[in-house]
Amino acid sequence: MSRSGFVGVRRADRWVEEDGDTSVGRILVRRLEREATPETLAQPAPQIMQCAIGQGDVGHSGRALRHLRGRPEARVDMDRHEAVREPRDPYGVVFLHRLIVPLVASLALLLTPASAAAAGEPSGYEYFHTYAEVKAQIEDTVAAHPGIARPFTLGTSYEGRPIWGLKISDNVATDESEPEVFVVAQVHANERASGEMALYLIDLLVDGYGSDSRITDIVSSREIWIVPMANPDGAEYDMSDGVFRNWRKNRQPIPGSSYVGIDLNRQFGFKWNCCGGGSNKPSSPKYRGPEPWYAPETRAYRDFILSRIVGGQQQIEIALSLHAQGRMVLWPYGYTKKDHPRTMRYDDWRAFVALGKKLAALNGYRPRQTSDLYIVDGDEGDWAYHSQGIFAFAFELAPGNPQRMYPTLAQIQADQARNRPALLLLLEAADCPYAAVGAALAAKRCS
Ligand SMILES: [Zn+2]
Repeated sequence: MSRSGFVGVRRADRWVEEDGDTSVGRILVRRLEREATPETLAQPAPQIMQCAIGQGDVGHSGRALRHLRGRPEARVDMDRHEAVREPRDPYGVVFLHRLIVPLVASLALLLTPASAAAAGEPSGYEYFHTYAEVKAQIEDTVAAHPGIARPFTLGTSYEGRPIWGLKISDNVATDESEPEVFVVAQVHANERASGEMALYLIDLLVDGYGSDSRITDIVSSREIWIVPMANPDGAEYDMSDGVFRNWRKNRQPIPGSSYVGIDLNRQFGFKWNCCGGGSNKPSSPKYRGPEPWYAPETRAYRDFILSRIVGGQQQIEIALSLHAQGRMVLWPYGYTKKDHPRTMRYDDWRAFVALGKKLAALNGYRPRQTSDLYIVDGDEGDWAYHSQGIFAFAFELAPGNPQRMYPTLAQIQADQARNRPALLLLLEAADCPYAAVGAALAAKRCS
């Protein structure tokens, strides 16, 4: 990943101050990506570059970085970095992904051996789940609770990884006539708290079944499909060789480009590329792909949802996509600012708003239509609602501090505890989401 003449940085953090509409990066270089070679050491000392991250897509703006600090001073290669902050970006304040260190900046850092990096989680962050650990947790859960837990796969990722999920229900081997809920996480690879929340929900349900009457009722009366890591290739890359890479997209090569990766949540086939809610640049973290459904991961997502049409009826009543971060409860649409355009039934909109507000009251988040945040087109929830009539919500979980995408274990656990009642309510609501509006609408729509 590093260019000749430079050594890539393993990890950088302590990042971003707000300065009006400009965010100023502060970077503390932690580790080097690879050891210096005679060739790289022979390069002249690069100048310290400066950049400001302001309005728009800074990936190609060439705007100078300012106030870049650290020991040693690092510079950011604006042509190559993968993660940008955009105004009002809830994913937010990502730290720059491609960092370049002047070689002569610090002999001490150059002596840091690259071989010290371990595979998987960075040191001190072992609580984050790797792909293998997600799979192992699913297998362990099935072994411990075979009557209510059963593995499935959404499909296969670009690099060939099965996208594992867990069905939870009583009589789990039987396709019963029960309302279904689909919970999906880590569509965005670096939103690691989302995967942890999905695993928390699995534990909550299987551990509570038989001991907590509310959870027992939910498991007995719903069929719940949980996919903790919908983008396993990206997730593995995001946390590999013992470093965080802040990687959002999948890992699919882009034809005609040297860039890799598509934003899976700009890939869905409803209103794809309609409204400027993604990027056409393969370098962008929000690259929508050359066409809808181009990424195997989004096709797998779609095909699984479509596979739940039984007897002409979509069985999934509610979907929850877990993202991070921003403390928000979101509902469709993302592609338009209109509350309920002709593509949304008025009664459905009322149910989205009423249920969204109830959920937000429980987890302390802010209830909003997705487009209140910013326009998103090719969005998973927009497609799931429009194509399948699914009440598709998204939670933007709490940010970490100081690393927004990589919260501490205590921060993750606090957010999980805050979300417990909201998650249970959402599962309960699957029998009639309209009931959140009131008995009259429930009688009209669900009887
Ligand atoms: Zn996301």
